[in-house]
Amino acid sequence: MDKEQARQRIAELREEIHYHNYRYYVLDQPVISDAEYDRMFRQLEELEARFPDLITPDSPTQRVGAPPREELGTVVHRVPLLSLQSIYSEEEMRHFVETAIAEAGEEVTFVAEPKYDGLAVNLTYEGGILTVAATRGDGFTGEDITDNVRTIKTVPLKLLAEDGEPLPEVVEIRGEIYIPVAAFRELNRRREEAGEPLFANPRNAAAGSVRQLDSAITAARPLNIYVYGVGAVSGYEFSSEWEVLQTLRRWGFRVDECNVLCRSSAECLEFYHSLAQQREQLPYEIDGVVFKVNELAAQQKLGTRTRSPRWAVAYKFPARQETTRIRDIIVSVGRMGALTPVALLEPVQIGGAMVQRASLHNQDEIDRKDIRIGDTVIIERAGDVIPHVVKVVTERRTGAERKFRLPDTCPVCGTEVLRTEGDPIVHCPNIDCPAQLRGRIEHFASRRAMDIEGLGEKLVVQLVASNLVRHLPDIYDLTVPQLTCLERMGEKSAQNLLKALEASKQTTLARFLYALSIVHVGEYVARLLAEHFGALSAVEQASYDELVAIAGIGPEIANSILHFFSQERNRQIVRELLDKGIQIRQEEAAAATLAGKTFVFTGVLSSFTREEATAQVERRGGRVTSSVSSRTDYVVVGENPGSKYQRAQELGVTVIGEEEFRELIESS
Ligand SMILES: [Zn+2]
Repeated sequence: MDKEQARQRIAELREEIHYHNYRYYVLDQPVISDAEYDRMFRQLEELEARFPDLITPDSPTQRVGAPPREELGTVVHRVPLLSLQSIYSEEEMRHFVETAIAEAGEEVTFVAEPKYDGLAVNLTYEGGILTVAATRGDGFTGEDITDNVRTIKTVPLKLLAEDGEPLPEVVEIRGEIYIPVAAFRELNRRREEAGEPLFANPRNAAAGSVRQLDSAITAARPLNIYVYGVGAVSGYEFSSEWEVLQTLRRWGFRVDECNVLCRSSAECLEFYHSLAQQREQLPYEIDGVVFKVNELAAQQKLGTRTRSPRWAVAYKFPARQETTRIRDIIVSVGRMGALTPVALLEPVQIGGAMVQRASLHNQDEIDRKDIRIGDTVIIERAGDVIPHVVKVVTERRTGAERKFRLPDTCPVCGTEVLRTEGDPIVHCPNIDCPAQLRGRIEHFASRRAMDIEGLGEKLVVQLVASNLVRHLPDIYDLTVPQLTCLERMGEKSAQNLLKALEASKQTTLARFLYALSIVHVGEYVARLLAEHFGALSAVEQASYDELVAIAGIGPEIANSILHFFSQERNRQIVRELLDKGIQIRQEEAAAATLAGKTFVFTGVLSSFTREEATAQVERRGGRVTSSVSSRTDYVVVGENPGSKYQRAQELGVTVIGEEEFRELIESS
């Protein structure tokens, strides 16, 4: 790269970085990942190092951050809060340690501590009393958040002094305000319940909470703090960082127990790797490890660069968020027919793993985040969860991006999909869809469906992989010789399976309907259908009006049933199953044993919903009302009954529990 090219690239980088500083610090709405920001910053630093005469005072490398927001007052830090140089490799770690030892002497040691992913703050204590709390801001000037910080219970308003121990006249204490991971989840859960927007991550939640204009809001947030250093100090002497930490703890601050003192790069690396391993289990979020030269005299010798001290580094963990591009969006069909849009990404390393796909969950999610094919997006990977799209970087749009709609037909079998009002999940209803074969067989064989003992997940995988079963009805054609060819399948187990298959052919309509895994038709709805229609052919031919007339069956369920039986392939599979010898016992409609009886429910029943219980009563000719009167025959009492229970006792109405209710229903 020649100088002219460098000049141009430097200008581009500065403009980008200024913009992202603003988004990150002022608006608290970053549009790129931290890793990408760091990369741009390092590229700019490298270019400026190669062409020092291109450095200008307005370069982002010449100051730390961005101006504070104007609504909060500003505070000038007595000693600037420098940012730390970030490093990413063991080689850089060793280089840091070796340089420090070479320049400051063999006896240098290093304090290692977690690099918290929170909000850096500067707390000023005068005469032992908290007088000012400020954000880091641009490192020189921060925002005045004193009132807000005072609400954090782990911040001492007054330093503790044992036995008349002298306190500094003035001391600036540096720390990080954060929200613990568990408290963050709880906070978001409550916000979701209240219909409020969710925080993207604990750091954003902490930053947003600390910078509130109303400290009452801050007080209600689960903020906490760890402190790790001092800035300006007068009237007190420290000789090492380790001494600082011990003293801060004595003064009443939270200082992390896991901090250690290292004597070599090997010890530093060991701590780094052990913390990286514990990362997912820690109660707070961290994004690396900070190493500081311990002895203050050595720090003095090493000195400071424009932007960061030479006696400390932040060794970052591999990023868990990255920026990449969506090449295409495909649709995967789940084992029970759910269509899930999946983004195919330009491959990107996130936290040590190559990521090429991200789940987009459903159409609602795509619409809400306005995700388009060709978009540049921020991808996040947490734990073992499938990576997901955090947000679209709309600033990178070129106009060539294309919107995406889930198709109207299944991409695997071509069947028209089922869309349900109020449910963002779209389903392929085809019982013979190849993508669903395994899931459908497992469900068909499950205990509460056809109850085929021995036909579990592992065997189903083998049967499908070996092509012994290509369609659901094939399970009834299996033979002992075929089965014994499979791994871990002896003659005896094979015979037992065939017996179980044979036994399953005697079944009830409710079980058979449930076994077909029709979307929205669970056990209870299957029972309703069976009791109402009595015969499979009647269910197949039922109209929308007939279906919704049944108590407990709404438009969504009715549509799903109609859609299922409108598919020729589904009707054919059902016929094939019956041809294999499945006998459906006729079920008689429930007798009107409760005719003329009036029921009232109060409290929560454990094995029925209120609707189910009501439907059971009505099907037997009874009536359910909402208030107790002398004409009420039964009051059914569940957990935490209300005033109806009292009223029933006053009126002398028969009170029964859930068990007695169940007996009443089942005996009729
Ligand atoms: Zn399909």
